[in-house]
Amino acid sequence: MTIYRGHLLHIAGSPTLEESADALVSEPDGALAVDATGRIAYSGAWTGLPASLAQDDVVVTRGCLLPGFVDTHVHYPQTLATDEFGGGELLEWLERCVFPAESRLADPDFADLVAEEFVRRRVSVGTTSALVFGSAFPEAQDALFRRTIDAGLRIVSGRGIQTVGPTSAAALLTSEDDAIGLARDEIARWHGQDAGGAASIARTALAQVAVVPRFSLAVTKETLTRLGDLYADVRGDGVYFHSHLNENDRPGDGEIAAVREQYGVQTYLDTYDGRCLPGSRTSGESMLGRRSILAHAVHCTDGELARLAETGSSIAHCPTSQLFLGSGTMPWRRTAASGATIAMGTDIGAGDEWLIPRVLNDCYKVHMSEHGDRSTAIDPAQLLFLGTLAGARALDQEQVFGNLDVGKEADFVIVDPEAQPGFGLVLDAAAHGGARSHLFGLLMGMREAAVTGVFVRGRRVTTPAGDAD
Ligand SMILES: [Zn+2]
Repeated sequence: MTIYRGHLLHIAGSPTLEESADALVSEPDGALAVDATGRIAYSGAWTGLPASLAQDDVVVTRGCLLPGFVDTHVHYPQTLATDEFGGGELLEWLERCVFPAESRLADPDFADLVAEEFVRRRVSVGTTSALVFGSAFPEAQDALFRRTIDAGLRIVSGRGIQTVGPTSAAALLTSEDDAIGLARDEIARWHGQDAGGAASIARTALAQVAVVPRFSLAVTKETLTRLGDLYADVRGDGVYFHSHLNENDRPGDGEIAAVREQYGVQTYLDTYDGRCLPGSRTSGESMLGRRSILAHAVHCTDGELARLAETGSSIAHCPTSQLFLGSGTMPWRRTAASGATIAMGTDIGAGDEWLIPRVLNDCYKVHMSEHGDRSTAIDPAQLLFLGTLAGARALDQEQVFGNLDVGKEADFVIVDPEAQPGFGLVLDAAAHGGARSHLFGLLMGMREAAVTGVFVRGRRVTTPAGDAD
């Protein structure tokens, strides 16, 4: 048993987004006891720590103990492609910047270097769990899974599937048959690999696999229909579905207009919902469900939001990316009211912030800036929820991690304000306003330097170079 002493901050229990505002635990002199199996045995006030535990190893931290951050949308092959100039909005940025950048991962040595850097960046910012949009190249995916498992982080990922695209995407494209075959291979190779691949425990393994068409414009109705059949076969094993939805609504030739034109569907979501034939006629199996996460959802109709909620699908909200690509602002009140789970995504490389609290910072600002009575000052406890427990819920693993409740696997980060120049004093001042004010100051103001310890299942996570932290 190891006891960590510090300021405990988490969202307890299993609240809704709305309820999370009242589920904040802020325990300035707190204790987190982690047993030999990596589970949380005690979580609460230091003074309440059972005497039987108090003589065990005690690690005194100067700072705060928070659940590990969960990034539900991040592109591994764009690790080195943040802040790429010359693209503009989504479709042009993909063609001019992203497809060439991702094509470089065809070189296995380069891909391995990118995988190493990807893992290093995740450790630096305390992202203990991530849904990772993968590379087109199987060897690059092997490098990603291998390095992530070696480091001890959680990951869900799948190779980015593309069967059609512009000339600049040529290296990323495969035939329909290869798209299906490679997805099956990846599931067989990596889904639950660290747990020995046994189906019964694959659903909670550190490494799991997703079926990931890049987006409807990068595939055809044949691809989507066959992926639907594939997903129907494997969803029972806990395999995920991940893609993009309703990101760019430029009139005439933006993403949403192009999807409608290419498929003749009524809504973009229909293409993932087994209705990708003209008029949204039934084409096959739906890929929506409890392990389905769609990034962006900026311009959903009420019907699409209701369908996401009804199927238990989740939204990866990526406000930093939406600012960069001029994609607009996801309407906060309307989306939250739909009941669909909303979690946070960095969307590296359209997003250029690896640290989930930096994305929460943008989240607060963009929804504060919504027009008129749509403007919302999101509660700090809800921000913490979005970056931690909601992410675990979106990944359908809320019972495993996401907060510091007793019995969960101990995924947590140490945030030391003194490790970030000037931050300790700012936070002390914020604390005068109470727990909520302290948390807001912490989430809005913290930078990567303040993350001084990262733990998954109670084990300190190390970078590929072998350095702690
Ligand atoms: Zn994305």
